[in-house]
Amino acid sequence: MIVLMKPSCSQDQIDHVIELLDEMGCDHCVINGSKQQVVEVLGARDRLDRRRLESAPMVERVLDKSAPTLAADRQPGDRTREIPLGASATIGGAKIALIAGPCAVETESQIMEIAAAVKEAGGVGLRGGAFKPRTSPYSFQGLGEGGLELLALAREKTGLAIVTEVMCCEDVELVARFADVLQVGSRSMHSSPLLTAVGRQSKPVLLKRGWCASLMELLNAAEYIIKAGNPDVIFCERGIRTFETFTRNTLSLSVVPELKRISTLPVVVDPSHGTGRRDLVAPMSNAAVACGADGLLIEVHRDPDIAWSDGDQSLHLDQFRTLAAALRPFVAAAGREV
Ligand code: PEP
Ligand code: MN
Repeated sequence: MIVLMKPSCSQDQIDHVIELLDEMGCDHCVINGSKQQVVEVLGARDRLDRRRLESAPMVERVLDKSAPTLAADRQPGDRTREIPLGASATIGGAKIALIAGPCAVETESQIMEIAAAVKEAGGVGLRGGAFKPRTSPYSFQGLGEGGLELLALAREKTGLAIVTEVMCCEDVELVARFADVLQVGSRSMHSSPLLTAVGRQSKPVLLKRGWCASLMELLNAAEYIIKAGNPDVIFCERGIRTFETFTRNTLSLSVVPELKRISTLPVVVDPSHGTGRRDLVAPMSNAAVACGADGLLIEVHRDPDIAWSDGDQSLHLDQFRTLAAALRPFVAAAGREV
């Protein structure tokens, strides 16, 4: 464990931390960093009273060296962090947040019709990419700023919170001007400059797990965002790549209870990218809620057969309505609300 002191702490305050550690029977060693002083606690983790140390003057944080503890910060009795989704909803409280919409914003009538259906079915967020990370450079790359304007129009009409992806540092300011939640996609989860850039602005961040990223790598990605100053991170499990071929990805639902055990940050599941198959989206949504997810991120389209991207995994609007209604017993069984 390490005790990170605030940058302008005095020698007396470091001595006080050392006294506390002596009282707890913990060995220690002071490291004089160029920007911050650190007191390293040697062994005896079980004797360390973390809360007591954290309430000492000028202690910034007590960190577990082997784990990114800004993101993995849950202590017994802690509640999940409730993060705003726009002006009138939150995620992480009692209510399960349904966020749905097309893979990509295509046209005004497309996004408006879908937004109205999402709202009517009980959704609180509208997802949709204006900047699309595509495998092929010849595929549709998104409408860019025009797409963001259409999303803002949909918010105006429906009140839904806008969740949309930002792919590079240069676009963070632009996307943050339109979005209620900035999505960092699976491909970008490893981009530490982007993570730092979204951490320096104040809108919540939906952080998708990289398809080859371990849980620890996901936690460390969140760590970049939080360390840069933004504590409002929402984890998103969207499936990982395995040897299995019957689904696009393997939806790794066991990370949901594990993340909930170690972190106070809310967790969303994306069963659309997680399976790549429309018929599997509803059962995996039920399972996600049953194992503790705080929300769902689902692709829906008014006409999936002609969607410009990810049509195979997008639900028809009536299927989304059915999913939302069928989810209710699972929500109730999990002790949550819709
Ligand atoms: C998306 O949400 O449309 C998307 C591109 O997701 P991912 O980054 O998980 O592939
Ligand atoms: Mn998609």
